[in-house]
Formats: sequence, C-alpha cells, structure tokens
Amino acid sequence: MKSNQSVGITGIDAEGIAHEPPLPKQYGTELLVLKEGKGVYLWDVQGNKYLDFGSGIAVNAMGYGVEEIARIAAEQIRKIVHTSNLYTTEPTLSLAAKLVASGPFQAVHFGNSGTEANETALKYARLYAKRKRGKGHHTFLTFTHAFHGRTMGALSVTPTEAYREPFEPLVPGVEVCPYNDVEALKRIVDDRFAGIIVEVVQGEGGLEVMRPEFAKALNEIRDTYDLILIADEVQTGLGRTGYLYASEAVGLKPDIITLAKPLAGGLPLSATLIPEKINALLRVGDHGSTFGGGPVTTAVASYLWDTVSNPSFLKEVQEKGKFLGELLEALREEYSSGAVRLTRVRGMGLLRGLEVEVEEGDLGDWMKQILQVARKEGILVLRSGKNVIRIAPPLVISRKEIEEGIETLRRALKSLAS
Ligand code: PLP
Repeated sequence: MKSNQSVGITGIDAEGIAHEPPLPKQYGTELLVLKEGKGVYLWDVQGNKYLDFGSGIAVNAMGYGVEEIARIAAEQIRKIVHTSNLYTTEPTLSLAAKLVASGPFQAVHFGNSGTEANETALKYARLYAKRKRGKGHHTFLTFTHAFHGRTMGALSVTPTEAYREPFEPLVPGVEVCPYNDVEALKRIVDDRFAGIIVEVVQGEGGLEVMRPEFAKALNEIRDTYDLILIADEVQTGLGRTGYLYASEAVGLKPDIITLAKPLAGGLPLSATLIPEKINALLRVGDHGSTFGGGPVTTAVASYLWDTVSNPSFLKEVQEKGKFLGELLEALREEYSSGAVRLTRVRGMGLLRGLEVEVEEGDLGDWMKQILQVARKEGILVLRSGKNVIRIAPPLVISRKEIEEGIETLRRALKSLAS
C-alpha cells in the first residue's frame, strides 16, 4: 500500500481526523477520513492502518478492494445504469428470483436503504390488514431497544427516546412491548394489530438475542390474528450471524423479511421479501421507488448472494463467530472485576458485543473514549446501545485477523483502564 499523498489537506490532522467538516453535526464534528481498503484493513488519508471490526456498520461483508465487485459494477455501468421501475433488467430479475426462492416468498420490493425496506414492510402490513380484514386493524407492535430506521414510519416503530424526541409527533398507532417477554406479548396483542416488526439480534439496541420461546410465541400470535410478522434482518441477514437469515437460528417464521446493509457489497440496495398473500392484494401504483433495484446494485448483489448463501461459507462464519465469542469470553474474564468491568458477551456469529460497566465516571464518556483509544491502537469498533462495544468484522475475516483484533482491543482496554 502506498503511503498517503494527502498530507496537508486543509482541516485534516496527522491522525487523519477532519475537524468541523461541512457535514451535518449529527455525525459529530471530528471524522476519520478514510482513503482505501484491502481485505479487512483500511487506511486513512495520512496512511494510518486499521483493522476493521465494524464493516461500515455491518455492511462490508466481503471486505475491501474486491476485484470481482469492481468488475461486475463497471461492466454493468457501461451497459446501462438506470431504467426506473417502469421497466426492468436481467440483473434485477435474476436477483429477485434468488431472493424469492430463499423462503416462502413470491416477490421482492427493492429500495435503497434499511429504513426504506422497513417503511415498505409497514405499508404492506397495513395494506394487507385493510384489504383483507377491513378497517380498524392498523396498529403496529415494536419492542424495547428496537431500531428500524430514521424515516418517519420506521422511526415511529423505534422506541428509543433520543432518536424520536426532536421529530415527534410521529406516525400514530404504535405500541411497545418488552423484548423477549412472552407474557407481555400475549397481553398486548389483539385484533387491532396489523403487524409486528422485530429484530432477531437487536443490532443498534445492545445486541440482545431473541429467545426461541419468544420466536414461537410471535409465530403463534401472527396465526391467531392474521397479522403480518416482519423480521427486520437489515443488520442480521445475509450471513452475519452464521445463518442466511438469523430468523432460522431461533425458529422465527416471518411473513416479510427486510434486508439492506451488505446486500449489494457496499452499494445502496434494500429488499423487502413478501409472500403470495400480500402480493395478491397489491395493485399498480400502490408503492414504488425510482432507484430501487437498479441493474448495477442488483448485479453486484447477485455476486454477494451467491457467496454468502453458500452453506460452506455460512458454516465458516458460524465457526469464526464461535471462535470470536470464545476470545471475547476470555477478555470478559480478565475484566470481570475492577473499575471497568466487562459483564457479558452478547450477540451471535460475527455480530458480537461486550457489555461494559464502569464504577466511577460517566459511562457515555468511557464508551466514546474506548472507541477512540481503539482507533489509535489500530482497530475500528462500534457501539451498540448505551453500554455495549459492538464487533462486526467483514465476514471474510480469518481466525488470525480475529486474534489480532482481540489483541488490539485488549491493548486499548489496558491503556484506558490503567
Ligand atoms: N434496521 C436495522 C436493524 C438497522 O440496524 C438499521 C441501521 O442500522 C436500519 C434498520 C436502518 O438502515 P439504514 O440506515 O440503511 O436506513
């Protein structure tokens, strides 16, 4: 890798940090300026190297600098970039056929982001309730610590106050149930409900995993009220947990699955997979998207799909996930007492979390610092919820690279704890 040529770019310091960039303050006022990547490593504009334990928030499943992705995208761009949904293309049809064959689905609506995939799912659930069951069944159920996106509909089913408060009032008709609480679920849901939206691992909300008995209760309550069960697999889908869909791991049988993040190898594409019973009720013009499912993103997504849906690839992710879990358990043991404690390993497969408790001082500050110190040590990690360090490396990571990452994280913890 060539050393960086960009020293001296205005406003970027020696650590590769841009200060006060002309981007909205919601992203913070100090941002690391990345330049290129290869495999599971990234380099910033100052030539500093990082092991990527975040994958651009669980997106870059194949890592960086994948020649095949570049070739497929470039070839398709030369042929045709965009058609709109008034027409379709072979890459779009080919990917749709693969997705639909992955479960009890008849059609797939393509969009551009996770929030859009969930908006679509919520709209279809209400449409189904109204056209099949009539008026008065429009309520949605969501769960504590859920995260489904930032647009108004998806935000309405995202109960965390900090995300919602500045934008209220949101879409009415949403109720919140404690996650994994079967009794509460049975108490709350009745004939008023159009749908339930749920994550199998709560990606942004602390990496809590769905219990199989909760999945069973969700399946049963869907059957009782003919409501639409939506699995938001935007973060968990496509191999991240060692399963093609995390729903399989816990026995959840959703009517709709939403996908996004890794779907097109880092390009923006989302999918809302729907069953025949919903597709049968849709009429021309009910929903749409200008860019969704264009030929470039879907051509790349077919490559991604062929790779991650291969059973031997998924088995490897399961094994690497188990290995990562064991190393994290060892780290947790080392920090099981003291001023900073690692209290639990959370998550599944290559979507993992370390729950943190601090004896003194502000937990929020400590979480910010550990991300920063880890970066300085040469590893990029994420946060989930208030007190969980999230780890979501590219799925192609090797065991050796996992070991290297844990060692680097260990150094970061040591330097912050001492
Ligand atoms: N759903 C889940 C489970 C997510 O983790 C996210 C993003 O983190 C979203 C939805 C929203 O996706 P996007 O940011 O692509 O709109």
